[in-house]
Amino acid sequence: MNRPLAPSATWLTVVGLEVHCQLGTHSKLFCACAVEFGAPPNTRVCPLCAGAPGTLPIPNAEAVRLALRAGLALGCAIDRESRFDRKHYFYCDLPKGYQITQFERPIATGGGLELATGRRVRLRRIHIEEDAGKAIHDRGPHTLVDLNRAGVPLIEIVSEADLTSGAEAHEYLVALKETLQFARVSECDMEKGSLRCDVNVSVHRPGTPLGTRVELKNLNSFKNVVAALEHEAARQIAALESGTRIRQETRLWDAQSADSRPMRSKEDEDDYRYFPDPDLPPLSLAADVVERERADLAEPPAQRRARWQRELGLSAYDAGVLTGSRDLADFFEETARLSRAPKEAANWLANDVAAALAKTGAAGPSASHLTPPRLAELIALVARGSLSKGGARGVLAAMLARDESPERLVTELGLAQVSDAREIEDWCRSALTGAERAVADVRAGEMKALGALIGRVMKASLGRANPELVRATLLRLVQEA
Ligand code: ADP
Ligand code: MG
Ligand code: ZN
Repeated sequence: MNRPLAPSATWLTVVGLEVHCQLGTHSKLFCACAVEFGAPPNTRVCPLCAGAPGTLPIPNAEAVRLALRAGLALGCAIDRESRFDRKHYFYCDLPKGYQITQFERPIATGGGLELATGRRVRLRRIHIEEDAGKAIHDRGPHTLVDLNRAGVPLIEIVSEADLTSGAEAHEYLVALKETLQFARVSECDMEKGSLRCDVNVSVHRPGTPLGTRVELKNLNSFKNVVAALEHEAARQIAALESGTRIRQETRLWDAQSADSRPMRSKEDEDDYRYFPDPDLPPLSLAADVVERERADLAEPPAQRRARWQRELGLSAYDAGVLTGSRDLADFFEETARLSRAPKEAANWLANDVAAALAKTGAAGPSASHLTPPRLAELIALVARGSLSKGGARGVLAAMLARDESPERLVTELGLAQVSDAREIEDWCRSALTGAERAVADVRAGEMKALGALIGRVMKASLGRANPELVRATLLRLVQEA
């Protein structure tokens, strides 16, 4: 009873994430400026997003629609009368002196995400807000400001403190990103800053109240989130075990040195003086608009994976690859439906198509000339015996690059499968000449030797010989020899 527990067992880690996600609109949240990653600095700016007085914000309906979709996809309750508030702080990245966000009445509350382990992570809220500009400190003596990003539409997704480890935080982020991508809310590309994450961490002993939390910022990859979080939990445990109290503060993670440093403590945390933005009326959503978006949400990725394995007989691996993006998942489903050969469709897409596209750097099959009807047709040509699998690979390569039907390409490339008994026998006889050793092996029941002979015929026929007939013919000739 008195035996001390291992130190790691005496502390529990508690994590809550605040994720900023850029809504996939063409223009900013309250003005018509274009949203464009990588544009030359301060070229996507107007008086409104530069904070000039006398300008009036007009909410971007598409941004509101995407925020609504995010709320619905994450199972939140939607507030059809949410509000915009001003959050005040003074820094060069925010020319107005306040950020427009949602404070008391966010567009969505509650909801949650189920992790692959089956654990549910609850969400607290999702609110709409505008992004700030970007302050650049490392170019000479002055701080430079790029306002292209100022006013870009974001949602902030705040989780409850339901996560218990770095691995779980990682799983949550993967599931969140995938859900938002499938709902076509956002690209969620961390490298382009369209997904950003702040991490709140505390530790406590089992059966005691939650510990004081520390917030970590500047985490620009999932890997950094995990590293920062684990490092912070260990730092807090070490401090508490040596009798030091944890200060509520915000720390900045430095990925290079794999260490964090204090940024500000709670005491000098700004008082944001939130108040309703008098320039913006309540954000009203008609009931039928909410229901239309709800009905338009596609089946979530985790459900698709489970259903494909259960109903279509896909492997977990293929189901995972094919839900790599919404486009790919839809492409697969359409091909499976048209071809009525889901496993074949999965094989082609997860292997040959994926490999070919990886070489060209294309984002997905929809970026090539391949379409679900064409891939379904290719599968049918192989199933009918008009095309060998090897020949089909050639047609596929051509189809990715050229806007032609598979049938045309088969003719054009001379890849039609040869099932003519005469021609097959000729190829087989040539393959057997000088192969006495292989013939003896096949007679002795060595199937490896037969495989090698089939390979010779396939090579000689440029992949066009019908492999079933080749196999039968070779066996017959070997017996006769
Ligand atoms: P604030 O209002 O100051 O932003 P919140 O209480 O709203 O703080 O929480 C912000 C984030 O911190 C949420 O994701 C929440 O889950 C998380 N959080 C709150 N308390 C803790 C805690 N004790 N340990 C870890 N995370 C916490
Ligand atoms: Mg917060
Ligand atoms: Zn603007």
